[in-house]
Amino acid sequence: MEKHQLFTPYYYVDEALLINNLKILKSVKKRSGAKILLAQKAFSMFSLYPLIAQYLDGTTASSLHEVKLGHDEFGGETHIFSPAYIDREFEEILENCEHMVFNTPTQWSKFRARALAAGIDCGLRINPEYSTQEHDMYDPAAAGSRLGTTLGNFDETLLEGLSGLHFHTLCEQNSDALKETLVIIEEKFGKYLPDMKWLNFGGGHHITRADYDIETLVSEVIRIQNKYNLQVYLEPGEGVVLNTGFLETTVIDFVENSGVMNAILDTSATTHMPDVIEMPYRPFIIGSGEAGEKVYTYRLGGPSCLAGDVIGDYSFDHPLEIGEVLTFTDMAHYSMVKNNTFNGIGLPSIAIKRASGEMELVKSFGYEDFKMRLS
Ligand SMILES: *Cc1c(COP(=O)(O)O)cnc(C)c1O
Repeated sequence: MEKHQLFTPYYYVDEALLINNLKILKSVKKRSGAKILLAQKAFSMFSLYPLIAQYLDGTTASSLHEVKLGHDEFGGETHIFSPAYIDREFEEILENCEHMVFNTPTQWSKFRARALAAGIDCGLRINPEYSTQEHDMYDPAAAGSRLGTTLGNFDETLLEGLSGLHFHTLCEQNSDALKETLVIIEEKFGKYLPDMKWLNFGGGHHITRADYDIETLVSEVIRIQNKYNLQVYLEPGEGVVLNTGFLETTVIDFVENSGVMNAILDTSATTHMPDVIEMPYRPFIIGSGEAGEKVYTYRLGGPSCLAGDVIGDYSFDHPLEIGEVLTFTDMAHYSMVKNNTFNGIGLPSIAIKRASGEMELVKSFGYEDFKMRLS
C-alpha cells in the first residue's frame, strides 16, 4: 500500500529506524552482559514484537493486561512490576510471567508464599531517594513518592525468598545519571546485593539517543555484575523506539483570533499525543520552525472542543493549505498506548513502513472502538 492511500491521522513506525535502535541495544547486551527488556508501558505495538524479540530478551509489564500481551505476543522472559497487585488478578498474573517485582513490604509479605510456590523469581523495588532530574511527574525518587521501598521501610526479614532488587528513577537520561544513582544504591543497599541473583536498573535510559554515553553504561553494568556476581537487567521503553515513529495529520481549517492564526488539524493533543499536554513538550514537525522563525506562523490545535487542545506554535516557509499533510516526529512511544476517545474523536490508524519502503496498514479504528468502552 502506498502512503497516500492511508487516511490521516495515522501513526507509522519505520522498521529500518527501529532495527537501527535494536542493533544498538543488542550491542550493549553483547558487550556488557546485561539483559534488556522492552517496557511495554511506553510501546505496546505488538505487530512489531516478533521483530523486537529477535534482539531483546523479553518484556516487562505494569499490569495484568500488559503481562498477558508480553507473554502471548513477545515470548522470552516476562517480568512485571505493579505498585499494588490486586488479589483477584494475581493467579492470572502468575500464569503469565516468571519474574515479579513487589513495591512494598506489605505487598511482598502478602503474596510471597503464593509467588514462590508458583516458582516465580521475586524481586523488591527499592527507592534510593535520589533524584537526578526535575520533572516531579516522572520522578519516582521524589520526596513523598509511593514507588519503591526506602531504606527506612526496609528490614532484613524481607530478604527471605527474594532473588532480585529493582530500581527505576531515571527518565530520558544519560548514563551519568545512572552512574550517580548506582553510588547511592550501593551505599544504601549494597550489603544485600551479594545475596541477589539479579539487579534491575529500570528504564529511563536514553540509550539510542545520539549523544548517549554507551561506554559508561557498559562499564557500569560490567562493574556491578562482577562485583556482586549477579545479572543486570535494563528495561527501557522510550529508548527502544526513540525517533522511529511518526504521526501524519491533515490541516482541516484556519481561524484567526487576536492576531493568532490557528490551524485546526485532524489530530488532537489531548487524545492522540497526551504527553504534549502532560509532560509537557513540543513535538517536532518536519519542515517547521519555532514561532516567528519562518515566515508563516500558526497555532496548531486539535478537532476536540477542549480550548487547551493545542499542540503548539509552529512556523513554515509557505502558507499552510487546507488538505496539506504534516508529519510529527518521534511519535512511537507514549502515544498509541495513551490514546483515548474523548469527544468521540477517532483513534489514529497504525501502520508500519517496512524496510523495503512499502507502507503497510496494520490496523484502523472506527465507531465500534469508541462505543465498546462505554455503555
Ligand atoms: C516507565 C517504566 C519503564 C520504562 O521507562 P522509559 O522511560 O520509557 O524507558 C521501565 N520500568 C519501570 C518500572 C517503569 O515504570
